[in-house]
Amino acid sequence: MFHLPAGVIYLDGNSLGPLPKAVCDHVSKMMRDEWGEQLILGWNSCGWMSLATKLGDRIGRLIGAEPGHVVLGDTLSIKVYQALAAGLDINRDRKVVLSDTGNFPTDLYMAQGLIKTLGKQHELRCVSPEEIWDNIDETVAVLMLTEVDYKTGRLHDMKSLTKKAHDCGVITIWDLAHSAGAIPVDLVAAEADFAVGCTYKYLNGGPGAPAFIYVAPKHADLVQPALSGWLGHDAPFAFERDYRPGSGVERMRVGTPPVIALKSLEAALDIWDLADMADIRAKSIELCDLFLTEVEARCPELTLASPRDWKKRGSQVSFRFSEAFAVKQALIAHGVIGDFRAPDTIRFGFTPLYLDESGVLAAVEVLENVITNRIWDQSKYKLREKVT
Ligand SMILES: *Cc1c(COP(=O)(O)O)cnc(C)c1O
Repeated sequence: MFHLPAGVIYLDGNSLGPLPKAVCDHVSKMMRDEWGEQLILGWNSCGWMSLATKLGDRIGRLIGAEPGHVVLGDTLSIKVYQALAAGLDINRDRKVVLSDTGNFPTDLYMAQGLIKTLGKQHELRCVSPEEIWDNIDETVAVLMLTEVDYKTGRLHDMKSLTKKAHDCGVITIWDLAHSAGAIPVDLVAAEADFAVGCTYKYLNGGPGAPAFIYVAPKHADLVQPALSGWLGHDAPFAFERDYRPGSGVERMRVGTPPVIALKSLEAALDIWDLADMADIRAKSIELCDLFLTEVEARCPELTLASPRDWKKRGSQVSFRFSEAFAVKQALIAHGVIGDFRAPDTIRFGFTPLYLDESGVLAAVEVLENVITNRIWDQSKYKLREKVT
């Protein structure tokens, strides 16, 4: 169901999922029959306006959200900002945003920007992932964490951390960028307050596909959107002078939805309707364990950067090596696509939808060759472009 270029073993679906074959026809049909023929009428006749919530529910099923509580739009950075602004507004009397040093930089940057804009002396407190538990206390307004660490794959225990946060009156925001489509998530069971995530990684929506946001039912009609755009208004087409938030999670919409990107995601999600998240997880653990064991045995120069225990890991395995970037480039030249995260990490994502044991073993073979024969040690593999 995926287009994968011949001769390539793709271990980077955690960064950009590959193209689901059905996307091409689905998107070109939308262009021809909907945009082409219906013009502006398409907003109603083709259901463009309701795609953001319709697809939100399909993602909601994968992350254990209640129907009607996930909406799509904008980028993940924007959704982090919205969730954090809402969380800080709920816990107005507290000033601390607690996160960890392993969080993805944009999540922390957005927090820094929001804190500056608010001008109310909030503090972004970043501690190591292991210290999060002990730092949850009554001074914290919002606990903002990415469930699966983008660099190492280390998995936070969403349920127990959320429980402790709630016991201390803390609002929780979970970033599911490396969870959605990678591991089973149950937001309802965890009682998460907010969750956000992107759809271009494990969900295969395509480069720049829109992000999602979840707001728990108990907050959905109370949060005051920081980005009060017209599509989050209760009556966008009344063109009223003043903002009034729409009902529930729809108030987290901002502006006009990216319909072409949503259509691409719509076709990508068809695959998820056929997949069982528990099966995906079981297979992902097998593939990750196989890769980890083989690489440790055959490439002793590499240092494992991910938890060895699968219970503490998402769907990726990372290794550290001083010349990680050159190794990554050499791997690509030899048909294995993984990725590099500065300064010294090589990251491999495992997605059972299109990867099996033979692919994993073939990738290890190439990696062993690149390391053992120092193939990476050539100037052409050390040249860095804009996106590393
Ligand atoms: C991939 C990723 C992002 C990317 O944010 P964009 O706004 O989509 O560029 C943000 N946060 C985390 C945790 C990620 O893994």
